[in-house]
Amino acid sequence: MSNRDYYEVLGVSKNATKDELKKAYRKKAIQYHPDKNPGDKEAEEKFKEAAMAYEVLSNDDKRSRYDQFGHAGVNGAAGGGGGFGGMNMDDIFSHFGDIFGGHFGGFSGFGGGQRQQRVNKGSNLRVKITLSLAEIAEGVEKKIKVKKYVKCSACQGSGAAKGSSHVTCTTCNGRGQVTRVTNTILGQMQTSSTCSTCGGDGKIIKDKCNVCQGEGIVKAEEVISVNIPAGVEEGMQLSVRGKGNAARRGGVNGDLIVLIYEEPHKELIREGNDLHYNLFVSVPQAALGAPVEVPTISGKVKVKIEGGIQPGKILRLRGKGLPDVNGYGRGDLLVNINVWIPKNLNKEERKLMEKFLESDNFKPNPSQHDKGFFHKVKNFF
Ligand SMILES: [Zn+2]
Ligand SMILES: [Zn+2]
Repeated sequence: MSNRDYYEVLGVSKNATKDELKKAYRKKAIQYHPDKNPGDKEAEEKFKEAAMAYEVLSNDDKRSRYDQFGHAGVNGAAGGGGGFGGMNMDDIFSHFGDIFGGHFGGFSGFGGGQRQQRVNKGSNLRVKITLSLAEIAEGVEKKIKVKKYVKCSACQGSGAAKGSSHVTCTTCNGRGQVTRVTNTILGQMQTSSTCSTCGGDGKIIKDKCNVCQGEGIVKAEEVISVNIPAGVEEGMQLSVRGKGNAARRGGVNGDLIVLIYEEPHKELIREGNDLHYNLFVSVPQAALGAPVEVPTISGKVKVKIEGGIQPGKILRLRGKGLPDVNGYGRGDLLVNINVWIPKNLNKEERKLMEKFLESDNFKPNPSQHDKGFFHKVKNFF
């Protein structure tokens, strides 16, 4: 699947309104619809690409993540696969109701022949998870307790009582859908809707299971363990296939969507894969040089401050940042030097300071200052 810019795919500007998005998508969907381009693989790809673009951009949450992080923000990061790359034709058609109004099983030809009877899919389950920077640095396995629908064990998810059987629905002849042909601007279109007799299952249960009342699912609590890869970031989503709600009467499970939150660190500030630390040294430490301790994700490290160091100087501790979520190395820890000036001096200290005041050596000399100082300070704060 290509990674073309979603706005470009739909041919809209970055600040397109929802209405503009909808219009643009409708146009593309009609242009590349499989029925209008039979056997054309390229058109099919374009059709899918437009559907994915619309899926993301029409959702405020996904759109803002996409604007911030690009495709990585909406593809479920590194974990569990999933994301929108997995959108298939059924998913696309199931969303057409919003775009075209009514429920379209597909245009003529496509709806009848190729599409199989709809499979029940359980809904996705969304959970939030808050991680410390230490957990993010290493990656972590989290056990999450969720309340969800699981398969009814009494009937094995079939919804039928013991000894009872399913009979084919006579309204839809087991197809689960009833179709209707209408005339539209695009010519004849076959619209289908879910069969109201069997609820889309194509089958009717004679005696319902009394544990789940024929639904095939029951509410239960489950502990799910999720492997969080190192380097994840607030706002990312991981999707764990098949760990969402079970579907009615033996369908396919939904997914578990894990939304990542970050617990702020006491001393370190994250910026992408880099970390920042504000180090304060005393005036004599800055003038004389001194060994100091700097906190990192994995404990303190000793750093030597050179005599004559200036506030605003940034020391870079290579590789002491966070690992990249896609495995592209590690960020750095940037130590920003601040010099602490005492606020209240006693008599003796004041006298010493007055001596320094007379010394030419203590007069500010910006020409000796690090080049790029002002630029760095501006970036940092
Ligand atoms: Zn049951
Ligand atoms: Zn039916």
